[in-house]
Amino acid sequence: MDKFFIKFTPYIIATNVLAVHLLGYILTLQVEKRWYFAIWLAVALIDVAFAFRCGRLIQNLHRNVYEDALTKVKNRGFFYLRMSEEIEKLKKINYRISLLMIDIDNFKVINDTYGHIAGDSLVKQLASILSQKIRKSDNIIRWGGDEFAIILPESTHEEAYNIAERIRNVVQDYSFYHNNVLIKMTISIGIASVKDEIEIDTFVDLADSALYKSKRTRNSVTNLNYQ
Ligand code: GH3
Ligand code: MG
Repeated sequence: MDKFFIKFTPYIIATNVLAVHLLGYILTLQVEKRWYFAIWLAVALIDVAFAFRCGRLIQNLHRNVYEDALTKVKNRGFFYLRMSEEIEKLKKINYRISLLMIDIDNFKVINDTYGHIAGDSLVKQLASILSQKIRKSDNIIRWGGDEFAIILPESTHEEAYNIAERIRNVVQDYSFYHNNVLIKMTISIGIASVKDEIEIDTFVDLADSALYKSKRTRNSVTNLNYQ
């Protein structure tokens, strides 16, 4: 049924609109002229309600396309969309973007020790902590697996470093719980900051290299100031 509905959605919507208008027209043939306005109003209201419902559906679909199902933060598709907007702004003078790449330390061990459901819960809790620690203009993205990215518009590498250190400290001190079992975990963070236009993938590579360096010691932050 769902498959059928999705396949024929435009036709079903169009047929509905056509049917309502046709019904309105047939009614006008049956009644006196003074009822025309009431019929027109009824048809218009049905149209408005229908259009509004379709609009809401499109809004929800759009939201879901860019949302990570587990954590409800944005996904990688959104990252490329948002990052290309930010990189466009680098044409302005004195504009800077920083990017944090965050990876949970020894997450495989956590999964093996406490189970994958506990692991999932920790990923969700981490997403929530990150969301509380950033500005409204920043964006958190679930990069995949146990990795998150944070886009920090208009942030210098010093500012990005301070934010990253703050986040790292909060996570280190945080008591994660799953089924009343206390689980401790830490994260490593790589930072890249740019002020001139750059390819998105180069920018990501840079933040990844910084993360790679942090992973040597784990529970640490590395900053690569590119330009
Ligand atoms: P490292 O400190 O080097 O990052 O070690 P690590 O064990 O965290 O290794 P790595 O980041 O390479 O592996 C991440 C693991 O996280 C692999 C996979 O089993 C697990 N994982 C990825 N996504 C999820 C998820 O959504 N839920 C759970 N429970 N586990 C996940
Ligand atoms: Mg990891």
